[in-house]
Amino acid sequence: MDITGENNPARTAVIVNIQGFSLHDGPGIRTVVFFKGCPLSCRWCANPETLSAEPQVGFLETLCAGCGGCAAACPNGAIRTGEGDHRVDYARCTGCGVCVEACPDGALVRYGERMTVAEVWDEVRRDRIFYRSSGGGVTASGGEPLLRAGFVRELFELCREGGIDTCIETCGYASREALGEVLSVTDHFLFDLKLIDPARHRAHTGRENGPILENARLLAKSGADVLFRQPVIPGLNDSPDDIEATAAFLSGLGLETPRLELMPYHKLGQSKYRALGIKYPMDELGPDGHERAEQVQKAYLDRGIHCTVSR
Ligand code: SF4
Ligand code: SF4
Repeated sequence: MDITGENNPARTAVIVNIQGFSLHDGPGIRTVVFFKGCPLSCRWCANPETLSAEPQVGFLETLCAGCGGCAAACPNGAIRTGEGDHRVDYARCTGCGVCVEACPDGALVRYGERMTVAEVWDEVRRDRIFYRSSGGGVTASGGEPLLRAGFVRELFELCREGGIDTCIETCGYASREALGEVLSVTDHFLFDLKLIDPARHRAHTGRENGPILENARLLAKSGADVLFRQPVIPGLNDSPDDIEATAAFLSGLGLETPRLELMPYHKLGQSKYRALGIKYPMDELGPDGHERAEQVQKAYLDRGIHCTVSR
């Protein structure tokens, strides 16, 4: 197996972050590999830097001294500075990172590095000792890791050979082939079910949910270990009708005990929207959806769904 990817761009992926010691992305202590690129564009997304599949730069306004060094260094004329103004023209920006290196104040940050399977493997295997002691392992997240199913498969094959547990966090919007590619090498799936109503799913995520529901059925039928997850977005997917529809869908999957984890809405991604020059799309919502998530949990428990709230 060629995992170097040196001569084959298909064997590389743009990775935003490799984060160790995570306790919320599968069992035990995990190292999470965040892939860049997502087929959905959920209005409540907390990781806007993962939406585009290409490397990008973000601008941290509070650190900028206004020296203009970045604009001078940019080979594509993609930065405009001066008179308190600083703009990145993303139509021109190639994400090369030259400006990040040129900035003396750390006011520019690069989101995404193209990496080979071998490079990612080199990083994740360093945490092996923590996986062993906690029952943890490696989690592919994003963005959407199934957009790079071949890459994930090769990485997980190495994990399997090394006795390392594997997990995928997915929005479920993927081809049947992509899901099939990773099925035999993945120990756990964390599978998002955002909204059952097709029209509102399209309105709030940019895509229809038919492929997602189909993949959920396929996974349930395969006997894979699946924990379904749902962000609780007050006013968007927490009405009694929404809860009823999700509960009915989960109950119809033929699982002995359908499991659902609720993820309270939060605004932690707001600063990254600012860094990317994107207007935050959910200003109208309150700061913390934890209380609402606990009310929704009760409604699911009443309907026979084994439901928890993530901390
Ligand atoms: S990443 Fe490269 S192209 Fe984009 S603004 Fe910086 S220097 Fe210019
Ligand atoms: S180089 Fe850094 S400090 Fe100077 S204008 Fe650009 S972002 Fe601001």
